Amino acid sequence: PWEEGFVNTPDSDPAVEGHRAWVRAALTRAATSRAGTTGRHSATGSLVDDAELLDELLARTATAGEAWGRRPARERAEVLHAAGRALEARRPELLEVMASEAGKTADQADPEISEAVDFAHYYARQALELAAVEARDGVRAVPARLTLVTPPWNFPVAIPAGGVLAALAAGSAVVLKPAEPAQRCGAVLAEAIASALAEVGAADALRVVTVDEGGLGRQLVSSPRVDRVILTGAYATAELFRTFRADLPLLAETSGKNAMVVTPSADLDLAARDVVASAFGHAGQKCSAASLVVLVGSVATSRRFHDQLLDAAASLVVGAPWDPRTQVGPVTERPEPGSALHWGLTELEPGQHWALAPRALDVPADGPEAALAGRLWTPGIRSGVARGSKYHRTEVFGPVLGVMTARTLDEAIDVVNDVDYGLTSGIHSLDAGELRRWASRIQAGNLYVNRGTTGAIVQRQPFGGWKRSAVGAGTKAGGPSYLLGLTRWERTDDAD
Ligand code: GLU
Repeated sequence: PWEEGFVNTPDSDPAVEGHRAWVRAALTRAATSRAGTTGRHSATGSLVDDAELLDELLARTATAGEAWGRRPARERAEVLHAAGRALEARRPELLEVMASEAGKTADQADPEISEAVDFAHYYARQALELAAVEARDGVRAVPARLTLVTPPWNFPVAIPAGGVLAALAAGSAVVLKPAEPAQRCGAVLAEAIASALAEVGAADALRVVTVDEGGLGRQLVSSPRVDRVILTGAYATAELFRTFRADLPLLAETSGKNAMVVTPSADLDLAARDVVASAFGHAGQKCSAASLVVLVGSVATSRRFHDQLLDAAASLVVGAPWDPRTQVGPVTERPEPGSALHWGLTELEPGQHWALAPRALDVPADGPEAALAGRLWTPGIRSGVARGSKYHRTEVFGPVLGVMTARTLDEAIDVVNDVDYGLTSGIHSLDAGELRRWASRIQAGNLYVNRGTTGAIVQRQPFGGWKRSAVGAGTKAGGPSYLLGLTRWERTDDAD
C-alpha cells in the first residue's frame, strides 16, 4: 500500500548558498581527515578477533533483541523516526566520511543520505502497518531475535542503514558488520541510530562488530545465535555464506549486469545523459549500474548517438571525491590483475574495440591524493560487444560501458535477458507499444523508463532483483513487503 503522509526527504541543493557552504566545508574536512587515516579498522576500533568474545557479544545482543521485540510497534516506530532525524542531523558528517573513506562525490553521497533518512521514516510506518495487520487478522508477526546485517562498500550509508532500520522496525536486535573499506561510514551511521535507541534505553539492540573476513567472518555468519542475515553484495558472497551454513536464513540482494535499451523513437539527448550517469556515476560501482547499452535499429546504424555518448563520457571530470569539480571518483579497490575489474578496464575480446579507452590518471605522490594511486580511471566505452561474450555476462563493477546492437526491440530484449542476473533494466523510447512490449518481457526487478537505472527512491521504486540478483525471499528494500520478509507469522491462538 502507498503510505499516506510519507514524504521523501529532499536532497541538498548545491544551487542554494547555505547548502553549498556546508558541502564545501565537509569536503575540505574529508581531504584532511583522509590524510590522517591509518587504514583498516581505524575508526571503530572494535575489531573482534577472539571467538569467545564474539559469541558473547552475539549472545548479549540476542538477549537485547528479546526485550526490543516485546516493545510495542508504536514505540519502535518513534525510535525509527528519531533515528531518521539523527541521520539528517549528521548529513555533513556522513558526507565527509563518505568522501574521505568511501570515495563518494558529494552529488552521489548526498542522495544516499536522503535514502537512509527515508528508510527510517518509511520503515517506522511499516512497523505500524505490521501491528495493524496483527490486530486485524489475529496473527502475530514474530521477529527474529538477532539479525546480522552485512552491507557492501559501494553504498556505505544507505544500504547498512536500510538493513539495520528494517530489522529494528520488525522488532529484531541487530549486529552490523560494516564492509571493510567503509567502517567509519558504518560507525557514524550506527552512532546516529544508537543515539535514538539510547533515548528509550535500548542502545544494546544495535551493535557494530568488525571482524576479519578471512578470520572470524565465518563464525559470525554461521553462528546459531543469528536468526537472519541481510546481505547486499556479490552473488558469490551469498553462495559462500550458504557453504558456511546450509540452512542460513538469508535475504540477499546480489549482483547485476544491467542494460539500457535505446530505440529509434527515443529522445537521444536524454538517453545519452541517462546512460552516462547510469554507467559512470560512482565510477560504475553500483549493482544497479548500466554496464551495457543496446542500440536498436537506426540508433545502431547511425553514428549520431554513438558520438553523443562518447562526447558526454569523455567530458566527465575524474578526480578526488573531495574536489567539488569531480564527477567520477575513484574505484574502491585498485584493479589487481586477475580481478574482473582489471579485466574489464584493460582487456578486449575479439571483435571489440575501445571507442573510448580507459586510462589510469597519475596522482601526486603525497598529500591526500596519494591514496588514490591506481584508482582514478577515465570512463571506458567498448564497442562491438557480442551476445554471449564474456563482457556481455560479467559484472565488472567499474567505469566501463559496453555497446551492443540489435536489429529490433525484440532482439534487444533477448540480449538483455541473456545474462544470469536481473536487477535493473532501462529503456529510452517514446513509443507506448514498445514500452509495453519491453516491460512485459524484461527479466529484472527494477524497470526504468526514460530514466537512468540507478538511484531507486524509497517507496516510489522498491529495490530488488530476479534470477541471480536476489537470494532468499526476494522482497524489495524500501517497499511495502520488506518487513514481512523479516518476520515469521503465527496465529495468536497458536502463540498463547
Ligand atoms: N539501490 C541502489 C540504486 O538504486 C543500488 C544498490 C546497489 O548497488 O547495491 O542505485
